[in-house]
Parts: sequence; C-alpha cells; structure tokens
Amino acid sequence: MANDIEFTNMDFEEDKYSRFKLISWWDQDILKNAKIMVVGAGALGNELVKNLALLGVGNVFVFDMDKIESTNLTRSVLFRMSDVGKYKAEVISERAEEINPDVKVIPFVANIIDDVGLGVYRRMDVVLGGLDNREARLSINQNCYRVNKPWIDGAIEVLNGFARVFVPGQGACYECTMTETDWMLINKRKSCALLSNEQMNEGKIPTTPTSSSVIAGIQVQEMLKLLHSERKLPILAGKGYVFNGLTHDSYVVEYQEKPDCMSHDIYPEIEEKQWSVHSESIKTVADQIKSDMGENVIVEIDRDIATNAECTCGESKVLLVPVHKLNASMLTCSKCGKQMRFNSKHTFDGTEDYSDKTFGEIGIPPLHVVKGRQGIETKYYEFTADYDLVFGKK
Ligand SMILES: [Zn+2]
Ligand SMILES: [Zn+2]
Repeated sequence: MANDIEFTNMDFEEDKYSRFKLISWWDQDILKNAKIMVVGAGALGNELVKNLALLGVGNVFVFDMDKIESTNLTRSVLFRMSDVGKYKAEVISERAEEINPDVKVIPFVANIIDDVGLGVYRRMDVVLGGLDNREARLSINQNCYRVNKPWIDGAIEVLNGFARVFVPGQGACYECTMTETDWMLINKRKSCALLSNEQMNEGKIPTTPTSSSVIAGIQVQEMLKLLHSERKLPILAGKGYVFNGLTHDSYVVEYQEKPDCMSHDIYPEIEEKQWSVHSESIKTVADQIKSDMGENVIVEIDRDIATNAECTCGESKVLLVPVHKLNASMLTCSKCGKQMRFNSKHTFDGTEDYSDKTFGEIGIPPLHVVKGRQGIETKYYEFTADYDLVFGKK
C-alpha cells in the first residue's frame, strides 16, 4: 500500500545516521546541535568541512577571505574548475549543504584577525584551524582562551603534518608551543607589512590532498571527542599528534605549559549590551561604562589603534586605524615623502578629540567585546546588538 511505502521511505531517511549510532558513546543530537567554526577554506578546510557535513554537524561557520585559484583544485575536494574566481568560503558552504542538507554552513568572507568579534567565538563549541599563518593562529588562540573554548589546529607539509588540541585550563596553549623562530617570523611579517604587501606572504608550503585528509580527519575526530565531553574520552589537550607519512613514525608530543604565557587570560563574565559597533561611539560607551563602574573608568580594547602620524618635517595627520592594518602608503608623508612615525593607543576615557568616532570606524569588528577598567576592577561588555548583522536574522 502507498502508505506503507511512504512510511518505509521516512524510516530510511531518519536512519541516515544509524551506522554512527552503533558507536557506544555516539550522540547524533550533540552533533546536530553543535556550532563549529572552521578557519581557512583551503586544503585542510575542505577536508574539515567535508567531514563535518558527512557527520551531520548542524551549524558550521567557515571563515576565509580568499578566492579560488586553479592551483587549489588539486587539494580541495569541494571545489570545481568552474569555481575559480569565487570566494572559497561561499563555495565550500554550498557544496557542504549538497553533501548533507541537514547541515547549515554559513560563509564569512573575512580576515580572522581583524574582522571577527569575540562574540562569534563565544557562541561556538569548538574552533577548527586550517591555516598556514602563525599570526592568525595566535589570534584564534587568544580569542578561544578569552571565552574558554577549545580549538584544534592542523598543519600539513608534503606527506607530513600534525594536529594539536588546545583546551583552556588543560595544559599548553598555542602560544606556549611557540619558539623564538615563530616569534621572529611573526615580527618580521609585521615589519614587512609596513614595507610592501608582497613581503607579507610567509612563503608557499608544499601540501598534498593525502596529508590534508589525514590531518583534518584527526582534527575532526578530536572534535567529536570534545563534543562528547560527558563520555570522558581521551583527548589531545595540550598535545599534538605528529603524523610522519614519509617514515611512518607517528607519535604524540606533549607541550610544556609556560607559566608566563600571555594567552591564558579567560574573561570571567561578559555582559551583553544592546550596543552596535556601528552606532556606539567611544564617548557613548565610555559614558555608559562610567555609569556602571564609576567616573575614573577607562575603556580598553584588545588591539592597538594608530591615532596619528607625525613627520620630522612637521607634517602630521590623523589615522585612527588598527596598527595591524597600517601600510606603507598610509605612513608616507604627503609633504616630503619620508616615512612618518605613528602613535598608538588601546585605552580610551571618552574625552579624546576623536571620541565621537564609532568603534566600527576605528576598526573594532561587530559583536566584539571591550573591557571597562577602574583600578583593579575589570568588566567585559559585548556589542550584542550586532548579532543579526553577523549571523543573520534568527
Ligand atoms: Zn600558553
Ligand atoms: Zn614630511
């Protein structure tokens, strides 16, 4: 009978995940409700998102600002020749939803360091990294710690790679693992940014679809275990799984936690304010925090803002952009052509002569968090009115 057939079809549909459910600790509902951030939509990102789609992870947020080039096609299972020139984040999201319509994938064409507010991290369960950039890793690491979220870093090179898990309060973080060479390369990159854009590239690393598949697989497996936290499965917190595909001597390394590490700052409580970075100015926020905490409060942000530039010839100009976004042309004196010196600031009291600028205008991303500080007392405030702007209408 027709009714019987319909029933059978429906039953089949609902049972799509039945093989997973044979795993004793598996809870498909946990995956369905999970919010996972994927940073980078390259070789690793493709494999990460593919796995998340197959597993039925309900809410995936993909961050990448680049467009697809033909050289990406050999390592990116979700890209096609016809996608060249389109944004990676957008194509990857479309394809993932084709693999599994149960999965909602939201693309963000954004720079992870400058454009993503802390409130985004705050709403995630786990963050997965598929990047080849130390500065971006450091930024993800700091943000994850501030809001007490685990993140899983992946890295690949030729036939090798590693996956590392960082859980606030459980051993080493990414910054703890950084060597002097890592810091040297970050600082070199920063100073290069003031010279030329070409020098900002860290260099191209040879990667293969095979190593990215292995490492992204490990990353997503660790994510599964983190999501099933009640099951107390062994996780790689503060450790790395080193895959040596050339010589087969894979192993786990435990990183040393550095007691003086600057990244272990967890924000205890974040107050949600009906503020938007596009409508609140430095002054209006300072005034509201003053009425909450007291007259001598200062507003502190997590990045340095270049306020103005001065030249030895006497010329000066207003900048008001994050130091990270400065480039050589912004600092070239229009009068004599020399490179100007700049002043920077990350605390404000609302009396600055540019305090009518909005937080958006000085480079603070939507849904971000600012600190109010008075003496030893610190409070954290989120620009929560930006929620719809970032995630779309609920
Ligand atoms: Zn650390
Ligand atoms: Zn000059």
